[in-house]
Amino acid sequence: MGRRNDSGTSIGKESPTGLLLCPSARPQMSRCSIIGVVTHIEAEPRIAYLDSLQPATPEVLALASPARAETVFRFSAPCAEGGCAHFDHSACRLASRIVQTLPSVVDDMPPCRIRPECRWFAQEGKAACQRCPQIVTHTSNPSLDLVTVSSVG
Ligand code: SF4
Repeated sequence: MGRRNDSGTSIGKESPTGLLLCPSARPQMSRCSIIGVVTHIEAEPRIAYLDSLQPATPEVLALASPARAETVFRFSAPCAEGGCAHFDHSACRLASRIVQTLPSVVDDMPPCRIRPECRWFAQEGKAACQRCPQIVTHTSNPSLDLVTVSSVG
């Protein structure tokens, strides 16, 4: 039996659709969906997760204009695994760094639609979800911690 995260999910387990989803995808990626919207209610940006996934169509992405879509939305797409600089053997090193470096920003797991298929949750469990709302795909003024976490290495 394989290793399990702290929520009892098998690490590397196949998702219902066969591929785990990256919860920090780029809008250019294939089969990309919007999973949340960046809010600025708190001192730092936070993600408000959508009740249902929205396909990242050109029309929806254009709603962010004149801002970059990555500053307004969070995206998911099938994990590129070996095609991603953050992937190392069977694990997402970005998810590991997020859990090791960033503080929890919520006590309970956010109401997120992709959890059964999320690579970060499959790998790191609840700890990933407690840190996930502070992850913004692109920000013009990232904290030092966010810069450190997003660095490949
Ligand atoms: S880490 Fe948790 S909250 Fe973030 S996208 Fe994955 S399942 Fe959703």
